[in-house]
Amino acid sequence: MKNKINLIQGDITEIVVDAIVNAANSSLLGGSGVDGAIHRIGGKKILEECQKIKAKQGGCKVGNAVITTAGNLFAKYVIHTVGPRWIDGKHNESELLKQCYLNSFKLALENGVKSISFPNISTGVYKFPKDKAAEIAVNTIKNCIQNEIQIEKVNIVCYENENYQIYRTLLEKL
Ligand code: ADP
Repeated sequence: MKNKINLIQGDITEIVVDAIVNAANSSLLGGSGVDGAIHRIGGKKILEECQKIKAKQGGCKVGNAVITTAGNLFAKYVIHTVGPRWIDGKHNESELLKQCYLNSFKLALENGVKSISFPNISTGVYKFPKDKAAEIAVNTIKNCIQNEIQIEKVNIVCYENENYQIYRTLLEKL
């Protein structure tokens, strides 16, 4: 199980996988950070599909996920999930972050995805404490792939060194 998890420091748009997870916002219309990078490199096809989903179901709720084409990215799909904005830890933030990982995996499995890259959801503009977010990510990823043969590789992609160091310590303990 442990050897399926791959820790990478870098830009999620540059890594070849079946599905790239995007830390989107509820509007699905793009934003800053990783969302901005994915739409910038992926091109307008991604935004067009997001707009269609928004027209149909009014966007995406916090903790949920939707799937689109990956446009010009080196992937088949982008899975857009909406992380919780950190308030004070008493607004269900941890459970909602866990749901982001669970619902992203659910869509990945339904679409035949074998390799998937996750960014550090909610740890940028949404200010989720990085250590807490990493623990939730690792535990949830671990549980999702434990008895799952379809998923061959899960990349945890850290853009910042601080997150990378936190994950490295956590993953060494697995
Ligand atoms: P959120 O609103 O969920 O906090 P952000 O995009 O602001 O989303 O940040 C989520 C994480 O993505 C942060 O840790 C940020 O450093 C990281 N990030 C920003 N750009 C990229 C990128 N190109 N590839 C991977 N991770 C990125």
